[in-house]
Amino acid sequence: MSEAVEDAAALVEVRAGIHAWVQPDGSWWLNNAGAITTASGQLVVDTCATATRARRFLDALGAATGQAPKLAVNTHQHGDHTYGNSLLPAETVIIGQEKMREGLRVDPIIDGCPPFWSPVPDWGDVERRLPDVTVAEALTVHLGERRVELRHPGGPAHTTGDLVAWVPDERVLFTGDLVFAGLTPLVFMGSVAGALAAVDWLAGFQPEVVVPGHGPILNGDEIARVLDEHRRYYRLVLQAGADGIEHGLSPLNAARAVDLGEFAGWADAERLVLNLHRYYADHDGKELDLIAAFTDAVAYNGGPLPTRV
Ligand SMILES: [Zn+2]
Repeated sequence: MSEAVEDAAALVEVRAGIHAWVQPDGSWWLNNAGAITTASGQLVVDTCATATRARRFLDALGAATGQAPKLAVNTHQHGDHTYGNSLLPAETVIIGQEKMREGLRVDPIIDGCPPFWSPVPDWGDVERRLPDVTVAEALTVHLGERRVELRHPGGPAHTTGDLVAWVPDERVLFTGDLVFAGLTPLVFMGSVAGALAAVDWLAGFQPEVVVPGHGPILNGDEIARVLDEHRRYYRLVLQAGADGIEHGLSPLNAARAVDLGEFAGWADAERLVLNLHRYYADHDGKELDLIAAFTDAVAYNGGPLPTRV
């Protein structure tokens, strides 16, 4: 079952009772979400960045399933996956990793997006809504007979508070932003080495269907191919960071020295600068300077980062 809606966002039933909400083209702020639905209740996986987009997703899901969400999980703190939380029914119980909850609690971008993007996103009528239940490492949700296993990769990866949602009986894995399918991965609020390690961790689930945080749904052999792309990209970032430090380059100049090669065609290439800021911060044992990192990403891009959110 699928339902095309405005701007080609679509609800796709990847297995019986398991839906993915896919928002092309998956670039800045255009995330994927989803839900697992049984006669015993519904678990939503992530919301969307704006009130309009979150409402569109939840309306399509309600029309397809005839249910209101009993539970929701945020795969991580970023606004494209969480700002729409306040569009969920008041009685929906929201779950998140404990560091994810703290990250959203102090997130300044929901209060007004800085002009690093063009046009500057307007979130609409959303309010900060934090998880009611936090998880450190693992939690299993039981929707009748169906298990949904929420798992943390064990350390920083895309962010410090990532969770995946794994449906073992159908081998469907919602990865959040541990996977960007066909788009430049982003790890500036996590760890480059941690994200690389998390690729092996994801592969260990042996999924048949992957719903990435951004980009198209992956089936079968596509999964190993895309995970390998992530491994190669993270190794490129690690090498660029090591080379940049060896040659005394700033993160921006280290990024400019990189030949993106097979990754040159991916959207949001300027994330290389953000990812190198993370590499440098970890190398130096310092906090990442978000403003400096985005200022450099805009410089690399030659102007504000495009978005269509
Ligand atoms: Zn993210």
